[in-house]
Parts: sequence; C-alpha cells; structure tokens
Amino acid sequence: MPEIPKERLEKYLNLQREFKEERYINLNPIQRGGVLTDAAREALLEFGDGYSTCDWCPPKTPRLDAIKRPPIGQFMQDLAEFLGMDVARVVTRCREAQFIAFATLGEPGDYVVVDGLAHYSAYVAAELARLKVKEVPHSGHPEFKLDLDAYAEKIEEVKRETGKLPAAVLLTHVDYHYGNLNDAAVVGKICKKYGVPFLLNSAYTAGVMPIDGKKLGADILVSSGHKSWAASAPTGILALKEELIDRVLARSKIVGDWSKHEVGVKEYALLGCTVMGGPLISLMASFPHVVDRVEHWGEEVEKARYLIEQLERIEGTRQLGIKPKQHTLTHVESEGLYKASQAHKRRGFFLYDELKRRGIVGIQAGLTKHFKLNTYGLTKAKVEQVAKAFLEIAKDQGLTIK
Ligand SMILES: *Cc1c(COP(=O)(O)O)cnc(C)c1O
Repeated sequence: MPEIPKERLEKYLNLQREFKEERYINLNPIQRGGVLTDAAREALLEFGDGYSTCDWCPPKTPRLDAIKRPPIGQFMQDLAEFLGMDVARVVTRCREAQFIAFATLGEPGDYVVVDGLAHYSAYVAAELARLKVKEVPHSGHPEFKLDLDAYAEKIEEVKRETGKLPAAVLLTHVDYHYGNLNDAAVVGKICKKYGVPFLLNSAYTAGVMPIDGKKLGADILVSSGHKSWAASAPTGILALKEELIDRVLARSKIVGDWSKHEVGVKEYALLGCTVMGGPLISLMASFPHVVDRVEHWGEEVEKARYLIEQLERIEGTRQLGIKPKQHTLTHVESEGLYKASQAHKRRGFFLYDELKRRGIVGIQAGLTKHFKLNTYGLTKAKVEQVAKAFLEIAKDQGLTIK
C-alpha cells in the first residue's frame, strides 16, 4: 500500500482558521452574509456526521423534502413561502441551481439570455447544459448600469436567429462586480409577455434583503446559502413557481434494462438527494435569524453609504456602480491609493499590509486602484474603525483628505 508520511498527515489535524470573525474585521464580499449564527455553529457540530439527516428517511418516499425529523420538509415549505415562491429545494450551490434550471428547461443549442454582469457560474452552468448565451449589455464605466429594456430586444434577436424563444432568461439581482441592484420586476414583465421562464439570481440578495419572487415576476429564484443565508458551504436554494415544478423537478423515468430497477420517487435533476448533513442543518438553524435580519436591510445600506462617504474623502477615490448604493457590496476606484502604491516599497501590497496591521482583512492583497468590499453584518463601530483605518493609511501616504 502506498504510504503517506506521518508528518504530512499530522498537518491535517487541528486546522485553524486565521481570519476568524472574533479576531478580524473581514470585508471579503463573498463572506459577509455567510457568517454563521451561534445556532448554526452548534447545529453544524450536532449534524456533522456523514448522512446525519437520514435517520428518519421515509422508506416509501426516500427524499430529503419528505423527512420530518429533523423538519426538513417543513423547512423547504417555509423557505418557499419566505421567498414568495411555491416550492423550494436546497441544493449544493447557487450555481447548481442555475445548472438544474438550464438543463431541465433547455435543449442543447438553445439560448439563455443573461445580463452582462452575470457571475461566471451562469456561463459554465449554461455550457454544461449545452446552451448558448446572449448577453444584455451595460453602460460601462463608471455606473455599469444594465439596460433592462434590452432584454426584450435580446429575446427578439434569439427568436430571429434560431426561430425559437430562449430556454430561459437570467437576471443577476445584485451583481458581484459593482453591487448594482436591478429592478427585477421590469425583466419579469418582459419574460411574462414572451412566455419565457425568468430566473432571478439572488445570490447576493435573498437572505440579506426582503425578496418577494411573486412581486418580481420570478419563475425561478436561485440563491446561495453560504453567501447570504448564514449557512455553511455547500448550500444553495432553488425555488420555483408552481408552473415549472413538473419540468424542473421531474421525477425519474429511467428503468434498468436488465434489473428493471426504477427510482420514480427521485427528482432526477437533483440526482435524488442533495445536501444531506451539517450544511443543510446550518441553513435551517440560521433561518429564524435570516427571517428577522432582512427587515434590517435599510440599516445595512446606511452603513455602506457611510463608509463610502468617508472613503471618498480620500484624494482621487470614488465608488463605482450606481449611486447612491442600494447594496452593501461596494467597488472602490482609487487613483490616490494607486499613486501611493507606485511610490511605496511594498507597491500594491501596502494597502493589504496596513489594513491587516489594524485587524482588517478581506480586500484582495496587491490591489489599490480597484477593490471590492462588503460591510454587511458589521456593527457601526466596526465600520467606523474601517473608515478610520483607510483615512489614516491615506494620510500617512501623503494623500489629501477632504
Ligand atoms: C456568489 C455568486 C454565485 C455562486 O454561488 P455558489 O452558491 O457558490 O454557487 C452565483 N451567482 C452570483 C450572482 C453570485 O454572486
């Protein structure tokens, strides 16, 4: 048997997280909404063993959504209700939810219309589902505003080119580059007019701000538990309107040619079951908190705006994307900090070093001219600490502060 040296194996024991929430202010955009609640942290330990949710899997309907102990089935119903949708399933990731929707709604060669700021996962999900993408453009620097009315033109374009409507339309509710919030109802109306399924990617919105899928006209709503629902990875949400259940959550029809084995109770695009342990339970344990926290979204946006106001006091520094901010994910452009980096012996890394020295992490090391941050879930005192750190660092570098 091949042998792995003991010293190498021992390295895997007692792994420690450097950037613990108690120790650092972490501004990493993808991490703010996924910080666990205490309840989720405990639940994760309790249900950490392998297939820990499967103790009471019903033998006649062996499916996650049919499990009553722990109340997984009830949770999925509550989740759908919370999002203003009819049915919800927990899948491994937002990207998987996108893939499931694309694969079940499209035929190879079909188009999906996506926004020009869509996450890379929308592209690879389309690719794996053998679909093509048609993009709706944005305005470019500095607002990067999407032209939502252009969805109609793009649907028409697909129809002209292929003689067929697109398999689906995707809108990124809030994009990960600039944190621009889109009026999803506009796209919802266009999709309704054409009869094309509307997939709203709410990876950065559902779980942190109030979302009503019905009001927005979403046929499919996807989200990310580890990004925005105070849950462990991997967890994703796939929520549907009634009309699409038969297509997206179709039951398996395959039959073994020799064994005659059938698995007709399984939803085949989900490959039967998805998240069957700790991460799912962490999502459930944080749910009461999430239901409450979306009501405080306004305060979160206020804190983000405060930080931007302070950062923009630094010479040559401004927020990109639409103003005023409607979301806590912020893209900063700083000619000033960039200029400072050119004169610094650590070059672009000085900003990272200086922030880390002050207990602040999450801004990508090496960046000064363009960087992203997210203040979601930080107390006002911590946001003030971040603002103070930036102003101090800029001043030390001889930049003018307004
Ligand atoms: C973060 C993000 C994703 C990826 O989420 P996963 O749950 O990790 O798959 C997908 N789409 C958008 C818009 C995102 O911001």
